[in-house]
Amino acid sequence: MNVTVVGAGVVGLTAAVTLTEAGHDVRVLAAATGDATTSAVAGAIWMPFECGPRDAVNRWSARTRVWLEALAATTPEAGVELHDVVQLEPAGAGRPWWADAAPALERMPAPVTGAPLAWRFRAPRVDPRRHLPWLASRLARPVEIARVTRLADVPGDAVVNATGLGARALAADDALRALYGQVLVTAPGALDVRTTLSDDRDPDAMFYVIPRGDEVVIGGCALPRPDDDPLAPDPEIRARIERHAARLGLAPGPVLRERAGLRPARPTVRVERDPGDPRIIHDYGHGGAGYTLARGCAEDVRALVAAGQVPPRVST
Ligand SMILES: Cc1cc2nc3c(=O)[nH]c(=O)nc-3n(C[C@H](O)[C@H](O)[C@H](O)COP(=O)(O)OP(=O)(O)OC[C@H]3O[C@@H](n4cnc5c(N)ncnc54)[C@H](O)[C@@H]3O)c2cc1C
Repeated sequence: MNVTVVGAGVVGLTAAVTLTEAGHDVRVLAAATGDATTSAVAGAIWMPFECGPRDAVNRWSARTRVWLEALAATTPEAGVELHDVVQLEPAGAGRPWWADAAPALERMPAPVTGAPLAWRFRAPRVDPRRHLPWLASRLARPVEIARVTRLADVPGDAVVNATGLGARALAADDALRALYGQVLVTAPGALDVRTTLSDDRDPDAMFYVIPRGDEVVIGGCALPRPDDDPLAPDPEIRARIERHAARLGLAPGPVLRERAGLRPARPTVRVERDPGDPRIIHDYGHGGAGYTLARGCAEDVRALVAAGQVPPRVST
């Protein structure tokens, strides 16, 4: 089938690669690519965050984890590595709701000051600087730069809507909201470069440290914002992140750059055929977990495309 994917963030590119592998003739259209997407700002560690519904997220994230683990083992150019992830445990919280998708989760004394316990597990960490170009390199043709104003006008036997926040206008979806995130990219300094640390104990002051090669991504926040707010990093948020690191006894190296992005958040990730136009398949609203869910969602998109395929006519 001829399939057009609209969007070239991690969700659109992963869907396009998955459909290409299935033998479809895939074309990708996007208003922006690479560094100009939200996907370029992410850490990006495998961990469900700000996404739902829980059952589907566990299924999508488990499938994505298996795929990313295989890439880590076989395909260094894909920019995926396995890390120890340590998540500080909020008092009395118990196992995280997504624990079933992360086997071998174990409890341990927290390796930082000021926190009693933590959960530890192994998870893939993706480097968007390498992963996004690698995904694009798996396609039969280059991504075409184009802004779509009506999905119904996009050519193709099937059209995949992977436009992140752009879906608010394209799919008239008011359930989508922008969740602002801000990170510092630092030199490693005295940080443990093999371990990702996450501290969600205070939902208003989330914090994480994600090492990747020669640098470390330190965040963050998740604040509702208008989509069209300028993405200038906020000095107060930077100061709060630096204070949080110091409180935990962490000593990163100098700040190399700051990045900000808007997560495309929705109470539930939308992966379904459009009720009004069966040619259109939606794949958006991955919130803080686009890298964690992309392949699992893409496999559902592949099944929806296959289900819409007209069986070949049998001559009698
Ligand atoms: C600070 C921060 C940290 C994060 N950390 C993590 C993490 O550790 N792990 C994780 O799993 N996730 C993380 N995320 C979330 C993750 O980055 C997102 O879920 C993911 O990038 C969403 O991908 P997407 O492809 O849907 O959207 P995007 O990357 O925004 O891509 C959307 C694409 O659609 C295109 N588009 C939009 N509108 C149109 C239009 N009208 N016409 C044509 N093209 C259009 C855009 O140009 C772009 O190509 C983080 C996000 C932020 C901001």
